[in-house]
Amino acid sequence: MYERGASVRELIAENDALRRQLASLLDQAESNHAIMMRHQAFDLEIVGAGSFQELVATIFRLLPAISDLDAVTLALVDADADIHTVMQKLGVDFDALSGLIFHDSAATLGHDAPPGQALKPRLSPYDPAVHRHAFPHPPAGLASVALVPLLRNKRLIGSLNLGSRDPARFTPLLGTDFVEHMGSIIAICLENTISNEMLKYIGLTDSLTGVYNRRYMDRRLVEEIARARRQSYRLSCMYIDIDHFKQVNDAHGHQAGDDVLREVAARIKAELRISDALGRFGGDEFVVLLIDADVGSASMVAQRIRASVANAPFSLPDGEWLSVSVSIGVATLDDFQRDHAIEGVAQHLVAQADQALYQAKENGRNQIVAAP
Ligand code: GH3
Ligand code: MG
Repeated sequence: MYERGASVRELIAENDALRRQLASLLDQAESNHAIMMRHQAFDLEIVGAGSFQELVATIFRLLPAISDLDAVTLALVDADADIHTVMQKLGVDFDALSGLIFHDSAATLGHDAPPGQALKPRLSPYDPAVHRHAFPHPPAGLASVALVPLLRNKRLIGSLNLGSRDPARFTPLLGTDFVEHMGSIIAICLENTISNEMLKYIGLTDSLTGVYNRRYMDRRLVEEIARARRQSYRLSCMYIDIDHFKQVNDAHGHQAGDDVLREVAARIKAELRISDALGRFGGDEFVVLLIDADVGSASMVAQRIRASVANAPFSLPDGEWLSVSVSIGVATLDDFQRDHAIEGVAQHLVAQADQALYQAKENGRNQIVAAP
């Protein structure tokens, strides 16, 4: 009787233990499922990002939460600062992407593999000396890190750097399949958005001077007039043309002419605010849109541009120095003509500036004229 009672109790205890084990396995399975679902949702979000800014912001916003991380940074190889320059011109707000780091070479990413071996994620204890490039501003107590190489066609384009305060989170013995998968999706998305943004940029800019092209300026003008109407501020337009530019080409060659065009664009740009837009309309003509500027302040900026071109000679490839000047026509939109179609108002504004420029040429060049 005692024996039987004991074995029943043992059975019950064993049964309880099994039930607890089963419950814990179920809990584990549920939690794994939840993690998987969160990562699938993450993949969908980043694949759906419409721009570089959105992609990087999404990674920084979602990854720490879904993967329970204390630090996430993203390092990109950007040899001639091309990516950074283009993103800046397209208006990417880098202040909002503080974990984004640009490297001028892949050498500083911390991913050198022995020759002939594929790059793998590197999981290790955090070491401030070794990981200072990956985590320039590490959170207090960072204990273990994973540096995940971002590869496209075997080329290292960057590194996704994950950090945790848990020393056991990333250790060299752990499997890396999961972070490798994450790295490959992020690498594809990055490459796609970067090439899309580059294409967008090429379609909007003038390849010789790097300023906007006419197509962009035409579109921007319409957008700015709509905004100026809504918010009732003044918009000014400048039409700039280099004086006797043909003689520069004739006397010094086309190459020297191109250099002068680039330098004129740079000098104009240096006098503008970040909100203003500068475009090359073709040949030796530039157009500037000045946001929230009345005729007085636009004329002041025009005078500054004129002086900055005329007051310092241009250095030519053959070692000579050349005096260059520009004439500028200024027109301001202060009556919003709300009952007129925006496209017509835009054309009229540019035509007025062009007409004023013609007057400046007539009056003897190297001067500005504001449309009446
Ligand atoms: P002004 O405006 O003072 O009346 O005289 P201009 O000599 O500047 O007049 P025009 O508009 O006729 O000359 C523009 C010249 O710009 C003609 C063309 O040879 C030159 N040009 C146009 N596009 C380019 C270019 O991309 N590179 C170079 N080097 N020259 C160009
Ligand atoms: Mg000219």
